[in-house]
Amino acid sequence: MPSTPVARLAAPAVHPASPSLRHLAVVAAAWLAAVAVFGQAADRKVIIIDPGHGGDDNGARSTAGTFEKDVNLILAKALQTELSQDKQLQVVLTREGDQRLALEERAIHVNRLRADLFLSLHCAHAPQESSDGFLIYYFQPDADQADTYHYLKTPLGGRELRVLPWNLAQFQWVPASKEMAGILQRRLNEFYARSSGAPLGGPLKLLATVNCPAVLLEAGHLSNPADERRLDDAGHRAALAQVLRQAVAEFLKASEPIRETP
Ligand SMILES: [Zn+2]
Repeated sequence: MPSTPVARLAAPAVHPASPSLRHLAVVAAAWLAAVAVFGQAADRKVIIIDPGHGGDDNGARSTAGTFEKDVNLILAKALQTELSQDKQLQVVLTREGDQRLALEERAIHVNRLRADLFLSLHCAHAPQESSDGFLIYYFQPDADQADTYHYLKTPLGGRELRVLPWNLAQFQWVPASKEMAGILQRRLNEFYARSSGAPLGGPLKLLATVNCPAVLLEAGHLSNPADERRLDDAGHRAALAQVLRQAVAEFLKASEPIRETP
């Protein structure tokens, strides 16, 4: 006998097409849709800003005696003020004051808040005073980690991404982090009217443990007097924060999944 709607409705309750299960599926779909809509409105992108060093870890020191940890914090606060103007963003600093934080303590904010982007702020220091300008880093596995990295990109390894050890958390975010680093490089090149320079990939221990797209910016060289003067200038920091905000917005827009329209 051919299957008719009536015949299907008359089937035992355990049948997948039974009315009670279908009703349940409809209710569940409606509930999920509602959660998606309300969740979307309430959902803000979480940006973690990490001022490098702190406490008894001063970081680099300029010849004038400026500590890197202080420059990092004051720049982080300028960036927090700038980014917080966008009500779709929740901006969190890994430290608000002058305290030492272990690398793991910095990354822990990311996992707890399910962050969308992690920005670590530092200043560079070079032996020659003439070295100047910013540097951008993203995580790239070293030779020892490369096999694991490539394995995790296979379908079999991909399943293991869900249970990655803490120190491999960044592996799945390498392409996104590289993209953010590229956007930042381009925007800062424009800001400083520089034509060259590229982000640097490396096995940075801090970034390895971060479970979201992550970049590290050295905002200038503390060993260069002109860079130091710029970093000490509130107007320059505010302008720099604006450029960083544009880069963050560009990255978030590019990484937004394309939603199906009904
Ligand atoms: Zn540093």
